[in-house]
Amino acid sequence: MSERFDVLAVGAGYAGGVAARALAERGKKVLVLERRDHIGGNAYDCLDKHGVLIHQYGPHIFHTNDKKVFDFLSRFTRWRRYQHRVIANIPRDNPEVVPAHKRTDGRFFFPVPFNLDSLKNAFGEREGGRLGEKLLAAYPAQSQVTILELRQNKDPEVAAIADYVYDHVFVQYTMKQWGQTPEEIDPATTARVPVRLSQDDRYFQDAYQGMPAEGYTPMFRRMLDHPNITVELGTDALARLDLSGESIKLDGQKFGGPVIYTGQADELFGFRFGPLPYRTLDFRFETLERDFFQSHGTVNYTADQDFTRITEFKHLTGQELTGTTTIVKEYSRAYTGAEGETPYYAIINPENNDLYAKYKAEAEKFGELHLLGRLAEYKYYNMDAIAGKALELAERL
Ligand code: FAD
Ligand code: UDP
Repeated sequence: MSERFDVLAVGAGYAGGVAARALAERGKKVLVLERRDHIGGNAYDCLDKHGVLIHQYGPHIFHTNDKKVFDFLSRFTRWRRYQHRVIANIPRDNPEVVPAHKRTDGRFFFPVPFNLDSLKNAFGEREGGRLGEKLLAAYPAQSQVTILELRQNKDPEVAAIADYVYDHVFVQYTMKQWGQTPEEIDPATTARVPVRLSQDDRYFQDAYQGMPAEGYTPMFRRMLDHPNITVELGTDALARLDLSGESIKLDGQKFGGPVIYTGQADELFGFRFGPLPYRTLDFRFETLERDFFQSHGTVNYTADQDFTRITEFKHLTGQELTGTTTIVKEYSRAYTGAEGETPYYAIINPENNDLYAKYKAEAEKFGELHLLGRLAEYKYYNMDAIAGKALELAERL
């Protein structure tokens, strides 16, 4: 078996899928082993039993500034133009300033990332407008500012805005998502959702944004459809790989070519230094007999509820379906490694990075073993970043 293939890719998500295709086009015979019974990794989508196109592992919106990645993926899909917009849904705690038309059932809404319009929603048209001017004057050369940076501002009025945004957007959502405060987690994480010094209410500002017109899974199917690629689903590579000696063995025989491993680094080495900490999510899908449930693709519950956000897929996918819609609520908790749990988010901090470095050093003992992807590299990567890294690796190999 191992002699028939030049390259082994473990995992059929962005990392494994993009690398496999790019190498196959360079004439390499690639074997892709995937533990799940489907391709696409966490970007996998499918119709639910009501016929609604859903993302099984949480909402995925494609966005990138990397033209090379966009062009590569565009060979396997057309795109539906879509700009993701998110609002926060929070309990009304300041009734005198929230305009009546923005209130429903004691709750009100504002755009996230928090922007100049969010200020008006929160503080009323006049006062919000005045505070917006104040913010713009405080950061004349910037289009956005992170919440942690804003909280450093000494001006009492700017500090009051920072407190408001911290309390109403960040602290409770972050506690739900990470079990820690914004100060305790990697600053790059909250920096993903800055405070916008403009009225731009898009969640992402990248040059290329959209959804694969027929979904992610068909895009992956076309990507992996190449005479030099063989995909085996429902196959745990760890049952067939042997890293106990000096060289890598597959099915008991030496595998001489590159092995691109996109699963968990700790699992690959039998957790020998201890497990790497992750957060997992429980997804609760609900199908409702109505056209739409909410006004936006995603609504973040930043100040109450046990879930972090609700996404309604039809907004993202553009699927036209009357009288039926599916939503998903996301509940975050610590990953325990129990059967059926998925490690979704690496918990990035110096201690965990040190632990990861030990696994990375083990991998480096094998010249042909390449750790690639969100799990294997223990990083918080978006889809485009992984695709970009996979293309780079394929070029190097
Ligand atoms: P994965 O998609 O996890 O693929 C790894 C694959 O390897 C899996 O299919 C796994 O089954 C397989 N595998 C692991 N171990 C083995 C083994 N031993 N044998 C065989 N197979 C194995 N990014 C965006 O750009 N936009 C978004 O809107 C977005 N939303 C997200 C929402 C959520 C809730 C989450 C969790 C992530 C989101 N992401 C988003 C990030 C995106 O999911 C990742 O960047 C991307 O899926 C990473 O691809 P990957 O190939 O590294 O990993
Ligand atoms: N965040 C927040 N409130 C929000 C949105 C995001 O506090 O309304 C913080 C939170 O810590 C979250 C991080 O910003 O984990 C990154 O948010 P993003 O939406 O990028 O997370 P993802 O979609 O990757 O889960």
